[in-house]
Amino acid sequence: MSSILLALLVGFALTQAANVVTTVYLHRALAHRALTMSPGLTNVCRTLTWLLTGIRPRQWAAVHRKHHAFTDEPQDPHSPAQLGWLRVQLTNVVLYRRVARDPEQVARHARDLPATRLDRWLFDHALIGLGITTAIVVALMGPIGFLAMGFHFVLYLSLSAAVNAIGHTFGTRPFENSATNLQWLALLTCGEGFHNNHHAAPTSARFALEARQFDPGWWLIRIAQRLRWVSVRHDSPIFATPRTTP
Ligand SMILES: [Zn+2]
Ligand SMILES: [Zn+2]
Repeated sequence: MSSILLALLVGFALTQAANVVTTVYLHRALAHRALTMSPGLTNVCRTLTWLLTGIRPRQWAAVHRKHHAFTDEPQDPHSPAQLGWLRVQLTNVVLYRRVARDPEQVARHARDLPATRLDRWLFDHALIGLGITTAIVVALMGPIGFLAMGFHFVLYLSLSAAVNAIGHTFGTRPFENSATNLQWLALLTCGEGFHNNHHAAPTSARFALEARQFDPGWWLIRIAQRLRWVSVRHDSPIFATPRTTP
């Protein structure tokens, strides 16, 4: 196998690991409280979020909760209906940071997630976390490791943007909300592509709501549930918006 192909595969694997902690920990557990994690698993996910994404969880939760509170309205941080899907796809990071870097908005939308002492000392420093991961990958792979990390960043940011941009523009809408379902995007984002389902039932830990839909994140949650590492809030989804089709 060529070293370039290996670097791309490593980058893809890092992005998939980042997608798991994004959807299960940041999104379903923290932002929506759809599941509760054991302290041990919380610490593992908190550390992986820092090492793989540099994201501050309370900022991510605040931006995302604001998106749900004002979906596709002018106050939505990243609305394709307001800005066009291509602008959201290409500038999602900029749009995210406008809210994430505003302490007043973070305090308003994520007051249940205050910064801890460990956050201030360690986890709030994204460059340290991402620097440690880069150092490990480069130590194991040599200079081609920089390509793996670069591919990981581009792919992770592109897929996160796609959920906000493509996932509110193209795809099916079985429920009455502006988000869409896309199975291919769900496969690449550990389930986030069922975004129409998610807006219909935001506190559901399961995003796939029909038999033929596959949500990898839900199956990981089911395994963690068997191991008693997580507890799920509802056995059945509680719907915020009705079905558009019978
Ligand atoms: Zn959305
Ligand atoms: Zn959500």
